[in-house]
Amino acid sequence: MTSEYTNPVPTPTPDTQNFWDGLKEQTIQLKRCLENECGRFHHFPRSICPYCHSTNLEWTPVSGNGTLYAFSVNHRPPRGWTENEAPVIAIVELEEGIKLYTNLVNPPEDPTTIKIGVPVEPVFDKVTNEVTLLRYRLK
Ligand SMILES: [Zn+2]
Repeated sequence: MTSEYTNPVPTPTPDTQNFWDGLKEQTIQLKRCLENECGRFHHFPRSICPYCHSTNLEWTPVSGNGTLYAFSVNHRPPRGWTENEAPVIAIVELEEGIKLYTNLVNPPEDPTTIKIGVPVEPVFDKVTNEVTLLRYRLK
C-alpha cells in the first residue's frame, strides 16, 4: 500500500518520535515511568508522567496484544478520507492497561456483530516510506 495511500498521516513530534520510529520497525514502544517512581505506562507519549509527574521515563517495548474496549463505524469519515469503506474506529486496551485509539483492518461485513472484549492483535501498516500506522485485527 506504500505508494497509493492518500489519507492524512500523523506528524511526529519530539515527544512521539520514538513511538513512530518503533512502528516502522514493527515494534510498539510505550513510555513508562521508572520502577522507582510509579512504574506505570502511559499513552500518548509525554515528557512528564501523568500519574506522579516524574520526568524519569523510559521507552519500553510491549507486545501490543490486547482486547477490544470500544468501537464505532464512522459513516461520515473525516475530510480527506479516500478509502471506500467506512473506517471502524476502535479503542484497544493493551495488556499493560493502556488504551489506544486505532482502527480495525478486518471488520466483519456487519460490524454490529463485533463483540466488546474480544482479543485483538497489532497490524503494522506501512502507508508511506516515512509513516507506519498501528492498526488492529480481530483474532
Ligand atoms: Zn509515574
